[in-house]
Amino acid sequence: MRLNPALRLIMKKTRLRFLLGIICIFTLNLEAANKVSFQNISELESGNLKIVFNLDKIALINSYALDDPSRIVIDLKNTDIAEPIQSKSFSPIKLIRASEVGSTTRIVIDLRGSVYWKKPWQVKHKDRIDLILEIKRDKKISQNLRDIIVAIDAGHGGRDPGAVGKSILEKDITLLIAKELERTLENTYGYKPVMIRPDDRFVDLDDRYQNARKLGADLFVSIHADAFRLSSVKGASVYVWAEEASSITAATLSKDKLTSSPEVQSKIGKLDVRDFDEDAARTIYQIAYEAKIDSSIILAEKILEQLKKDPYTKMHKPNVEFADFRVLKSIDIPSVLVESGFISNPDDAKRLAGKAGRRMIARSIFLGVHNYFKIKPKPNTFMASLPKYVEYEIQKGDVVSEIAIRFGVTIDDIINLNNLKNKSIYPGQIIQISI
Ligand SMILES: [Zn+2]
Repeated sequence: MRLNPALRLIMKKTRLRFLLGIICIFTLNLEAANKVSFQNISELESGNLKIVFNLDKIALINSYALDDPSRIVIDLKNTDIAEPIQSKSFSPIKLIRASEVGSTTRIVIDLRGSVYWKKPWQVKHKDRIDLILEIKRDKKISQNLRDIIVAIDAGHGGRDPGAVGKSILEKDITLLIAKELERTLENTYGYKPVMIRPDDRFVDLDDRYQNARKLGADLFVSIHADAFRLSSVKGASVYVWAEEASSITAATLSKDKLTSSPEVQSKIGKLDVRDFDEDAARTIYQIAYEAKIDSSIILAEKILEQLKKDPYTKMHKPNVEFADFRVLKSIDIPSVLVESGFISNPDDAKRLAGKAGRRMIARSIFLGVHNYFKIKPKPNTFMASLPKYVEYEIQKGDVVSEIAIRFGVTIDDIINLNNLKNKSIYPGQIIQISI
């Protein structure tokens, strides 16, 4: 049915409230509240304490640490307490308590002293979801600290080759860039990369952003390489999920009068019931979603800034692009998609087939991510506590000139900052890099 222009204008003006109202009712009917219960605490071989809670399905979580008194807070949206959570003390844990604040369950882990903590993550089992938090008492730190989790999504894979060039496949290029980025993040103090696709396997598009949520990602970077029928088209671009696309999704739902039309049902029914429904959540948690879009744009701008400085890469689009890329649709994890170039263009294909060209893309993403966290520091992370430089752990086979390229600094910068003149580097050594 086509709406007449006047009605369309009124609808546009009140669209947000209209959709919010209807879709909230729609979603609340569909979405029963999640339930959380405490499972156990155990000590791992590493000395870390592992605290496990059980959920019915994947939850929208906000977790943070506070000092004085030391504690970690986990807020679970749209979740009830299944049975009273009480746990005896297990040093350095004083007490685990939980309370319901509106539709949110707040779990507080009271601590003796500061801990290194890993951002909680969710593991899906047949009959339940485990919500896991790992902590370790660390007497050397004076505040609770954790790593920043960067989800790296190598586009395509397995039976899906992506764009096909003369002698290169997109899925191979994206994995190599992803691994290069993983390597830099892995050895840089304060960052923890998680690979959405670790090797040449097929990963469903929905699983990609769902897995980022399960892994507790602080942000999500999807890596791709384009192809076009005109071989002259070349260069890199960076995309953010389109606001319009989300409105279209909402409008489609409203047009269908939120009934059980097969189209709506297939959209909803596509995901496992234990997965998280980003489409429904986008309307319910509008503020979180808007903040995510703003953050994604900043992240995209920071990566673009670096790509423009990269001597190898030409830009296809100089500004942030917007598109309805499904992998970017998480409602609260800043997400960008980097098109590293066109493998249908001979220059780009040559650049991406070579290590130096791929390394530059990985470097631009890394520096973009790092500069993003300078603007938007996450409290209680190593990055927020070390703003002037990063610490990098030398790996077997590392040479100073290569490290300099990966971090976008000069060899002299590294030598001078670390007093390395006439000294060799060795595996396990920690050097400082000013970026
Ligand atoms: Zn692609």
